[in-house]
Amino acid sequence: MDIEGFRRAGYAAVDAVCDYYTNLSKKTVRAQVLPGYLIDQLPREAPKTDEDFALVQSDFESLILPGITNWQHGKFMAYFPGISTFESMIADLYATSVSNPGFNWVCSPACTELEQVMMDWMAKLFGLGKMFHIESGKGGGVILNSASEAVLTAAVAARETALRYLATTEPGSTLSGDGFDIPDDIRAKYSSKLVMYGSTHTHSLGQKAALIFGLTFRAVPVSTADKYALRGDALQEVIDQDIKDGLIPFFVIATVGTTSTGTVDRIDEIGAVLAEYNTISLHIDAAWAGVALALEDQRGYLRLADINRYATSFCTNMHKWGLVALDCTLFFVRNRKVLNLALDATPAYLRYKEAETGAVIDYRNWQLALGRRFRSIKVWFVMRSYGVKGFQDHLRVGIDHCQQLSKLIIASPSFELVTAPSLALLTFRLGGAAIPADTLPAERNLLNTLLNVRLNARYDVFLTQTLLPSTDEEDVFCIRVALGGRRTTMRDVEEVWAVVVEEGEEVLREWTK
Ligand code: PLP
Repeated sequence: MDIEGFRRAGYAAVDAVCDYYTNLSKKTVRAQVLPGYLIDQLPREAPKTDEDFALVQSDFESLILPGITNWQHGKFMAYFPGISTFESMIADLYATSVSNPGFNWVCSPACTELEQVMMDWMAKLFGLGKMFHIESGKGGGVILNSASEAVLTAAVAARETALRYLATTEPGSTLSGDGFDIPDDIRAKYSSKLVMYGSTHTHSLGQKAALIFGLTFRAVPVSTADKYALRGDALQEVIDQDIKDGLIPFFVIATVGTTSTGTVDRIDEIGAVLAEYNTISLHIDAAWAGVALALEDQRGYLRLADINRYATSFCTNMHKWGLVALDCTLFFVRNRKVLNLALDATPAYLRYKEAETGAVIDYRNWQLALGRRFRSIKVWFVMRSYGVKGFQDHLRVGIDHCQQLSKLIIASPSFELVTAPSLALLTFRLGGAAIPADTLPAERNLLNTLLNVRLNARYDVFLTQTLLPSTDEEDVFCIRVALGGRRTTMRDVEEVWAVVVEEGEEVLREWTK
């Protein structure tokens, strides 16, 4: 494709995107396709000769769009939002037009420096303490592809911290400060004894990180009484047992805004427990809720003061509620030197003058991969065109919709809230006066499972389910509503609620027959 060809195809692509958004509210939320629908329509091998690009573009519309789940639809209320904005799309176009792999300053000065500035903008917007700012010279932030990658990166740094401490305290050790490589025998002696912790409501990224490291992940149980928050004393008990068994706790994941219920773990208690140990780092996974720290009135609820006091690292996804399209995870660390110690591998071909003098940041040493996308441009475009106020207003709309939905649920005779709104997330189920008080927990779960099956059989709404621990033997099956989509209006919320009521009443009618 030459430049004029790109101009034509580019305009056509923008027109197609505009048409998609113009017609979006008339589409269903979920794709009405069966498994294999696309595979069956595509050739088994790449074309032998070139094809007309206009045909390729029209195939996007005829083949791909029918199989797209419309995450940007106003009635998408499943998982968490995965918002894209026009500003973010245009930023991606600019970023890929210059395709800079951004692994060090010299190969992409603008990518590196824009990212540094954006990470400090966002740290300040979220109220993260100075130690998390690049300006501080101690900590700072980097953009990664996912909260899962952030956990892996945080865990690599945590292992470095733990092993360095163990190396310096080994009987007879003369090692001190940062200027040493961890001896192989110390790595071999301690690495397999390291243990990670989270709760039973930590996102599966904790379990996955442990699988990748070949270590144990302890999921500390949470309870209804504590609104599913990880408590300090429960964590302490598990850590005590592990230490008794000769293991070495090194990494705790606390969540701000759990996936199931939006719960905020007791970071004050957890931090106080961990303060007693030299080998344990605390990572805060605020993948969804973290962006709401931009709202000063939510900072108490989200435990910002505790994060600033105790967290070793913190992450939030702009690509969920934060108006920036996938992928854009903001990962902040208190001590960037540890990241560099853990991840710096510098062969001759990566050396250059400015890095040798320490004048610049090489982001390759803050992440697992070498190459990286130019993601900061998305943050720059979005934050400049929304401004802090626009960003905050957007967050407030989702929180307000959730409050209003909770009122509809409370007022309904056939439904009950299971967990009250946490920002823009709530859970509910069939219940209340419509179901006799002596109905067994298993039967309540069955009714709600039937409701979920009915909702999932529709394409015009998209909600998900979760299972919460309970004081009864049965866990509680409930429906989860995640609001905050950029295109969701209160009318969408009311229409989705009307669908839920209709399906719920059908389930109850069948049940009482
Ligand atoms: N952490 C929490 C609390 C989440 O809710 C999610 C996804 O919903 C994740 C992590 C996973 O994020 P990512 O896909 O960026 O790894």
